[in-house]
Amino acid sequence: MKPSVGILALQGAFAEQAAAFREAGAETFEIRSPPDLSRRLDALVLPGGESTVQGRLLEKTGLFGPLADRIRGGLPVFATCAGLILLAERIEGGGPEWFAALPVTVRRNAYGRQLGSFSTIGKAGEDEDVPMTFIRAPAITATGPGVEILSSFGGAPTGVRCGRIAAFAWHPELSADRRVVKRFLSSLGERAGHDVTAGA
Ligand code: GLN
Repeated sequence: MKPSVGILALQGAFAEQAAAFREAGAETFEIRSPPDLSRRLDALVLPGGESTVQGRLLEKTGLFGPLADRIRGGLPVFATCAGLILLAERIEGGGPEWFAALPVTVRRNAYGRQLGSFSTIGKAGEDEDVPMTFIRAPAITATGPGVEILSSFGGAPTGVRCGRIAAFAWHPELSADRRVVKRFLSSLGERAGHDVTAGA
């Protein structure tokens, strides 16, 4: 059975994430309001965009509380950029913090302030030569216990994993390389004790 992945679709690059997850073998659906959470949810995607806008919409739609409960309860999460900011335990400059589920400190708009964005190629977890696009991306300025660093740029972490959360300052969905998403999907099967990607 394909994993069923809910994509937070309030603002930002949710369509690109949905396409990337489908290409990598998942079924996807959009999460726009609390009733959407009644579907089978094997993993949640928090897309890039504007974290302040997304945070405000999470409150307005009533999604914040139920999603915070699910994340605290161990729901696997794949987050990029603004999604990483929403998960961070601490945001430099006084927050506000949102889900505060990932023991990292971030600084918003730390990369690409001049040009807005840039791309590089690097190692992400087991994978070499992964294309990485940064768009006004947050820097991860500190990591707490249990945080594994998956990718770095200029000596600073840009991708991390902690428990069931994988979070990236860059945008895996914006290249055609699906390895990072596929690894996340296979980790769902391992942790659930069965292969939810079988037959994908
Ligand atoms: N700068 C954005 C923020 O602070 C994040 C940028 C992105 O998601 N590409 O929310």
